[in-house]
Amino acid sequence: MADPERNTVSPWKLLPKVELHLHLEGSVWPQDVRELARRNHLPSAELPAKAFARQFQYSDFPGFLLAFKSVTEHLCQPRDYAWVAGRLMDRLGAQSVIYAEIFISGGVILKQRKPLDEIVEAVCEVTRTDGPGKGTEVNWILDITRQFGRKLAEEVVDAAIRLRAAGLDNLVGVGMGGDENSIEANEFKHALGRAREAGLRITIHAGEVAGPNSIWEALDILKAERIGHGLAARQDERLMRHLAEKSILLECALTSNVKTGALQRIEDHPLKHFLRSGLAVSLNTDDPALFSTDLEKEYDLAETALGFTREDFVSMNRSALEHSFTSPGSRASLLELFERRLSSPQL
Ligand SMILES: [Zn+2]
Repeated sequence: MADPERNTVSPWKLLPKVELHLHLEGSVWPQDVRELARRNHLPSAELPAKAFARQFQYSDFPGFLLAFKSVTEHLCQPRDYAWVAGRLMDRLGAQSVIYAEIFISGGVILKQRKPLDEIVEAVCEVTRTDGPGKGTEVNWILDITRQFGRKLAEEVVDAAIRLRAAGLDNLVGVGMGGDENSIEANEFKHALGRAREAGLRITIHAGEVAGPNSIWEALDILKAERIGHGLAARQDERLMRHLAEKSILLECALTSNVKTGALQRIEDHPLKHFLRSGLAVSLNTDDPALFSTDLEKEYDLAETALGFTREDFVSMNRSALEHSFTSPGSRASLLELFERRLSSPQL
């Protein structure tokens, strides 16, 4: 399904792309949330259109987290999650996304007392089955919600280890999102250490609304292999050098940072500075439905506001594949597909 707000075709539509930072729950467009309200006979189904839309409006980061929560309250059963995962696959395929890693919020699912294992199994099944036909290979990352604290984080990791041991090999990692300023990193050291020992890969949202110290803690204490956003890295030269030397990829998103108030303007985004400084970066949508964006729009913005060229996009996407959490065999096939698509006469 096309983005309802898009009137023109992006020049980057056919460019093969990789998305490493994308939340399933933030990818449910309002019309689909409305459909879920109807299917699940929720009181919000009776709301007039304007009042319904108001649930997803916000002006700052805490407001955004509430809008995210409103979406999750419409995802009642495993089949709802599976349905929205299928809708997202359609969108990714239409934007030439050849590989995506998608977060699913284990913390929120447990907090809302929904059946986490069945939900994760359902979404993994959808992307495994639909991936080849829709053109996007997908792996999943189970996300801890930071402000829910240590106990729930341990339970999210328990589930990830259990599901992985049961053969769910497209669940590749554990992440942590939510309110970065809520609880210190040390509280999650044990849980993430267990995830790492079980072979799960680690990515942490850090330096999005907090300073460089939050990124240092994600690296030193939680052993993050990638950082979600990492905006604050530009304030710390030593950190910039460390990220480059250790080849830690920053999963960046432009519209997201402006809509949550982390940045005033897209032009202020350090993505190009990171790339020119030798850091590994990727460009992502984060929560496309909640931010009214898609990956093509993010590429358009990177070109017009930050001066990105085709070469920049190509090197960034190669790097994203190299820093993906997929298996070595899958990475090699994807890199080959990426180069083949680049040499297509349509590009
Ligand atoms: Zn995120």
